[in-house]
Amino acid sequence: MRVQLGGHPASRGSALGRARVRQPRALDVAEKRITAKQVPAELERLHTAITVTRAEMQALREKLQGALHKDVGEFIELHAMLLDDPELLHDLDQLIRSEKYAAGYALRVQRDKLAAVFEGMDDAYLKSRLDDLDHVIGRIHANLDHTLIDGRPGKHAAPKGVAGDILVADNIAPSELAQLQAQGVLAVVTAQGSALSHSAILARSLHLPLVVGAAQALGRINEGDTLIVDGDSGAIIVEPNGDDLHAYRERLREAARERRELARLRSKPTRTRDGFDVVLAANAESGEDIASAHELGAAGLGLFRTEFLFLQSAGLPSEEQQFHVYRNAVLGMAGRPVTFRTLDLGADKADHAGLAVANEENPALGVRGVRLTLAHGDVFDTQLRAIARASGYGPVRVLVPMVSRREELLAVKRRLKRAVAQVRARGHAASDRIQFGAMIEVPAAAFAVHGFIDLVDFLSIGTNDLVQYMLAADRNNEALGELYSPLHPGVLRLLFNVLETGWQARKPVAMCGEIAGDARFTRLLLALGLTEFSMHPSTLLEVRRAIRGADRSALLAESWRLMQCRDRAGIEKWLDSVP
Ligand code: PEP
Ligand code: MG
Repeated sequence: MRVQLGGHPASRGSALGRARVRQPRALDVAEKRITAKQVPAELERLHTAITVTRAEMQALREKLQGALHKDVGEFIELHAMLLDDPELLHDLDQLIRSEKYAAGYALRVQRDKLAAVFEGMDDAYLKSRLDDLDHVIGRIHANLDHTLIDGRPGKHAAPKGVAGDILVADNIAPSELAQLQAQGVLAVVTAQGSALSHSAILARSLHLPLVVGAAQALGRINEGDTLIVDGDSGAIIVEPNGDDLHAYRERLREAARERRELARLRSKPTRTRDGFDVVLAANAESGEDIASAHELGAAGLGLFRTEFLFLQSAGLPSEEQQFHVYRNAVLGMAGRPVTFRTLDLGADKADHAGLAVANEENPALGVRGVRLTLAHGDVFDTQLRAIARASGYGPVRVLVPMVSRREELLAVKRRLKRAVAQVRARGHAASDRIQFGAMIEVPAAAFAVHGFIDLVDFLSIGTNDLVQYMLAADRNNEALGELYSPLHPGVLRLLFNVLETGWQARKPVAMCGEIAGDARFTRLLLALGLTEFSMHPSTLLEVRRAIRGADRSALLAESWRLMQCRDRAGIEKWLDSVP
């Protein structure tokens, strides 16, 4: 029977496929015991499954090409490390030896035991480790009946062919996404998760449609159901009828037309109808993003989130490792400026090396961004030296996240200056023109921007956080619905204040939060006076089209009306009324 469900769109595109439903967490394996005589064979079955799982991970890692190899490979390595964890292996052996559990049941018991420990700790990082654990244990379980030939996985060991499937799961780990895509999975629907999560950002890079927060999905979708998933609207249709299929095909045709039309804008200037050139830069998370940014004619990288490198490493990346990544970004942009945001860990981003403070009462208001880097001077200096070295290869900008006061910028400036001197003393060609900027994402910094604008060469507004802090609405909490929205008179007034202060001081002000990449808001941002946008490459051409269709002077002339709006409805009405 046809059912329509809703979730939150997290990665664009539509797909038509079969549902593959993965029920959450607990391995649903009934208790099963074996005899003492069967113990050696059962142990062998378990260890074969572990070997096969290890080989699968290795094979997947080898299959990933280019940038994906680097970005996702680290996640796979983490999973492989879990597989080699002596305690985990020892406990599983013991459950088979002493309790005479069948291997599948031993996996379930061990998983539940560890999960109880993880779940008892109210810590986002440990919770994400639980997903990793489930993933690894689930794979071993799936491989229990595989064989080894000459110590290598037998013919059953190849990952299951799931081409044409749409995965429906409780949640999804970033490493799984890459694997699913390699296996031909068409889209993913999760009951939990948020469009601003790590997995969502990766899904967008992989061009894998993703709908998150579809709370009813696991209860209403059965294995093998036909699904249409729309990553643009968040709609999921179970057992679509003829009209749905027709509409789906029409949407695909429309999307293809749209792509062809947008492709024509690749080499076109980002110029408004009245002849004003807007700076359109890209946010990059991976080497692939950098390649797309370059290909789509981005004016540079407006935001390189360096913490991704730290999130994907088991320990702290060395100066050398960081330098290679940063230099590749600079070379990849071939002379266009690259903005490295210094490490923005903390809040929902916890690293594996344990820099981010665990168990903070209120992590979004805690030791994150520049507060954390200033508290870990050595780690910060290593990063600044790596960036300074990369600056010898092309124009580089340094952007400081979570700035709330002047003192922080002074401290970072001092460190950056020292880092440049240090790498030069070692014979590297660091530039003496590294542009220095502050992110405006703390409301107090946005109000008091006049108090530190003399210290920076540019500003970049991070609306994802600025909106959450202004409206006291968690950006990761889908339950808040419309409460988290930039269409609030208070937000617009503050944005206007920052842009105006920048204009008066003749300092460029960019915007790198998600709304900069949302073409629905382009005219509104132009009306506020924004002239530099930075966004994920996947939305760059749409925003360029919106800019090319806009009349900037007419929008600026209408900005006073925008500032009079008293609520969201008023702002939406304004948007409908302007050219
Ligand atoms: C922001 O806060 O708007 C931003 C761009 O940074 P992030 O999303 O990485 O916090
Ligand atoms: Mg931010």
